[in-house]
Amino acid sequence: KITVGVLALQGAFYEHLQLLQKAAVSAPPPTQWEFIEVRTKAQLDACDALILPGGESTTISLVAARSELLEPLRDFVKLHRKPTWGTCAGLILLAESANRTKKGGQELIGGIDVRVNRNHFGRQAESFQAPLDLPFLEQADSPFNGVFIRAPVVEKILPHQIGIQVEENQREETVVAPSREVIDVAAQRATEDDVQILAKLPGRAARLIAKEGVNIDAEKETGDIIAVKQGNVFGTSFHPELTNDPRIHLWWLRQVQDAVQTRHNVVVRSQVG
Ligand code: GLN
Repeated sequence: KITVGVLALQGAFYEHLQLLQKAAVSAPPPTQWEFIEVRTKAQLDACDALILPGGESTTISLVAARSELLEPLRDFVKLHRKPTWGTCAGLILLAESANRTKKGGQELIGGIDVRVNRNHFGRQAESFQAPLDLPFLEQADSPFNGVFIRAPVVEKILPHQIGIQVEENQREETVVAPSREVIDVAAQRATEDDVQILAKLPGRAARLIAKEGVNIDAEKETGDIIAVKQGNVFGTSFHPELTNDPRIHLWWLRQVQDAVQTRHNVVVRSQVG
């Protein structure tokens, strides 16, 4: 059984749960899925993977801090490297760096070595939809309807930071005894990649948006990074949970299956050896 949590402090968590259910019908068996709302550390501890929904990143971060979830979330993403996906505000929280807005900044969880620009498309374009070409989807025969609501984009890939943090932790823990956590982290690190850019907002989409009356300079916006992945951590600028299209959720559930399987194999190997 694989338990997937959706952080349910604020924002579009219910919509994610709905689409996860829909996607799970098509995810390859024999996995049994459980989808749960996460509001406490105990619930987080039960999860093999986690979604951080869209909403308002400052609010989510404040509520998480007040619920004493911020540190456990950082451990989940950066120490245990469990599969995590952030959409919109969720992507902001997973970035290692974000700009402050007029309303101020917020504490981030981190996990993807990028800097995001919040509210990138500005006020006049607080919301738009654009047909997206997402090459990482297997059945990318038809475009995915990208819903952008005061969306961030990735404006910069930062030098690798996660490795350093994990290494320090590994050193500390190895002195005591190589715990299961250390083995897991080592396994994750072996397959850890640099930041992968999975999708950009194409100029074609920007032109369509411009036609709809939203003031976006098609040439200028060409190439904005709207989906990234680093190891097990995945982020999108837009909100797949606000569509009825389960393709990205299905793709992600497959990634989760692979990650959980890898983790399991490592633990089994270490018990045998
Ligand atoms: N602009 C919001 C923020 O900074 C994110 C918007 C969203 O998630 N739709 O948190």
